[in-house]
Amino acid sequence: MIAERVQKIQPSQTIEITNKVTKLEQEGKPVIRFNIGEPDFGTPEHICQAAKEAMDQGFTRYTAVMGIPELREAICGKLKRENHVEYDPDEVTIGAGAKQCISTALLAVCSPGDEVIIPYPCWVSYTELVKLAEGVPVLVPCKEDFSLDIDAIRAAVTDHTRAVMINTPNNPTGAVYDRESLEELAALAVEKDIYIISDEVYEKFVYNGRVHVSPSSFSEEVKEHTILISGMSKTYAMTGWRIGYTAAPKEIIRAMNVLQSQIVSSIQSLSQKAAIAALTGTQEPLHEMAEEFERRRNYMRERLNQMPGISCINSEGAFYLLPDITGYYGRSYGNVIIENDLQMAEYLLDEAEIAVVPGSAFLAPGHLRFSYSNSMEQIKKGMDQMEKALEKLSDTVGK
Ligand code: GLU
Repeated sequence: MIAERVQKIQPSQTIEITNKVTKLEQEGKPVIRFNIGEPDFGTPEHICQAAKEAMDQGFTRYTAVMGIPELREAICGKLKRENHVEYDPDEVTIGAGAKQCISTALLAVCSPGDEVIIPYPCWVSYTELVKLAEGVPVLVPCKEDFSLDIDAIRAAVTDHTRAVMINTPNNPTGAVYDRESLEELAALAVEKDIYIISDEVYEKFVYNGRVHVSPSSFSEEVKEHTILISGMSKTYAMTGWRIGYTAAPKEIIRAMNVLQSQIVSSIQSLSQKAAIAALTGTQEPLHEMAEEFERRRNYMRERLNQMPGISCINSEGAFYLLPDITGYYGRSYGNVIIENDLQMAEYLLDEAEIAVVPGSAFLAPGHLRFSYSNSMEQIKKGMDQMEKALEKLSDTVGK
């Protein structure tokens, strides 16, 4: 008999779709991947080199639970320099990717029944990780342009609210929250004495001149109410290395370390050395990757918006687009009738050989999430194939 806590939780849909696509590819079906949110670039050479050297030097044992001091210092340096907020290395703990940091932070602050407000559309794992921590996800819609609706968030606060969990730049919408709305949210968090869990893992991918803003930089009081989470995975194309981090008030970090000491002992030693090289070495590969993402984003967004019945708004960050596809509802091809985003995703996989994630996975029914972490060549090919597949649906209007 499997425990109730697992039965209440859905498997990660982004991961499940990726597994499905891998299986199709193994069976010989060509699929263009727009589904997975992971940079298609290799980890920069100097970062790999640091891990190789650490291995040769025998740096292969457990490390401190919260991560090696040099890495935490490098993170503090980065937060001061780039996010304009000063943390002490004791206010930082390393996790196996931002996802584990979010999970541990929630376990550290949520008692059974505590509410966590989640503006949506939101990443697939937020609701499930809150439930795992025996908290209650309280879902609050974003505005139509996917920006934060502070009035709606305020209205959702109760005596049981423990935190508001945000992600900017956002997965899946690509929205980048502006300073003004984050300041309003921060004022609310201080007023109501609740935490902002700020997932900033896409912080380096902002376009159109937009700027990423970290709420904890606003004031000491706001910092005391913020749990900042970020990581190496997206910024340095290091998804497989599994290094994320949390910067938060000391008592939260201490609680997270207690959990971590029992659950994983410590985080991968070689990856920690690689992360130091990432943070302290040249940032050129990151700039090149961000520039390339912006180029792809502009192209894909334009192509999608040119397709009749598809509209793609906002999206000025991360590497996702979330177009509305409801214009195709009721249309059919062969035996297939499109009535929801799941069917549209299936149709595009079969007919256009492109893999996307249905918006429903992110509480955005009527949309599809496109990740542009794929080569320009593949994006062009995928957009051509999608256009043709949609034309077949268009042909059936009224038939
Ligand atoms: N965050 C990425 C995505 O949304 C990676 C997969 C996952 O952990 O959800 O696709």
